Amino acid sequence: MAMKFDGKRALVTGAGKGFGRAIAKKLAECGAETFALSRTQADLDSLKSEVPDIKVINVDLLDWDKTREEVSKIGHIDLLVNNAGVSGKSSFIDTPKENIDMIFDVNFKGTFNVSQVIAKKMIDSGKGGSIVNLSSILSEKAIADGCVYSTTKSAIDMLTKCMALELGPHNIRVNSVNPTVVWTDLTLKYKDELMPLLALTPMGRFPEIEDVVNAVVFLLSDQSGMISGECLRLDGGLGDQ
Ligand code: NDP
Repeated sequence: MAMKFDGKRALVTGAGKGFGRAIAKKLAECGAETFALSRTQADLDSLKSEVPDIKVINVDLLDWDKTREEVSKIGHIDLLVNNAGVSGKSSFIDTPKENIDMIFDVNFKGTFNVSQVIAKKMIDSGKGGSIVNLSSILSEKAIADGCVYSTTKSAIDMLTKCMALELGPHNIRVNSVNPTVVWTDLTLKYKDELMPLLALTPMGRFPEIEDVVNAVVFLLSDQSGMISGECLRLDGGLGDQ
């Protein structure tokens, strides 16, 4: 069923590349007035040239105050996708503090910061809304050299549940989408570490970007009107193995 978001206003973070770019394009195609936030201007320029109706915002989520300032300017948002994320590879023993700070600052604090600003607007408007956070099956599954990235995603799962609990009374739903591996700029450099997950996957394949887009759009839409606080695995049956 084609989703309709006419009259809705959407914000997607990390919309320059990968999932975020595809999600922003889909939301615009479905009628939402769409704001695409990322930090590489060339990506935003090419997105804008592909879909002129999309409004672009260049801000680095590592800058807490500037992010609040830019997101505050947008006005009311009905649909928020906290997608921006970075990965990193290092063993628990050797991980320096700067890596821990940087990955948590983008993946966790970036989501927290943007959500605070947007949720406040949703509450003040009385219109409610839907928020989807990009998590990962690595929030539950340990892989070698992935401890910082994975713990940011565990934090996102719990943040999703906490937000759903506190924002539910304001008719704001909050869910996460937790894929296994989709080959993007984020993952292609870690093929050796990630490929073993494929052998454990009953369906014998990893998701495509389109699978992620479909799940996000479903959770944003009224079709999922009673779903909140869920962390939706896109794992081809991998489950708890
Ligand atoms: P990509 O690396 O392809 O795209 C990430 C986007 O986020 C880029 O546009 C990037 O911009 C932007 N971004 C990163 N850091 C910042 C920042 N500090 N401020 C603003 N924008 C930023 O990643 P994916 O599309 O693969 O991943 C998207 C999300 O999905 C992430 O949260 C990731 O953890 C999650 N995920 C991905 C999986 C996968 O297999 N690909 C699996 C499970 C979860 P720039 O390039 O300019 O840095």
